[in-house]
Amino acid sequence: MKCREIIKLLSEYIDREIEKEEREIIEKHIKLCKRCESILHTTEKTIFFSRTLYKNEKIPKKIEKSLFYQIRIRYKK
Ligand SMILES: [Zn+2]
Repeated sequence: MKCREIIKLLSEYIDREIEKEEREIIEKHIKLCKRCESILHTTEKTIFFSRTLYKNEKIPKKIEKSLFYQIRIRYKK
């Protein structure tokens, strides 16, 4: 799987809304790919940070989407 596809799946991966097979693909990939590994960590941090801001409420989808959008833009080749 290509990096770009991995990045697309990261939001679901972090939310655990992902198929087991896909999760395994991602985990295998980030073991081999430093770039995606750091993207995953950055994304996780961003998500957790915004969850703290929103306390225990769910982050509005709109905001969450734009977060991932920005992350994707940043790492796009
Ligand atoms: Zn990668």
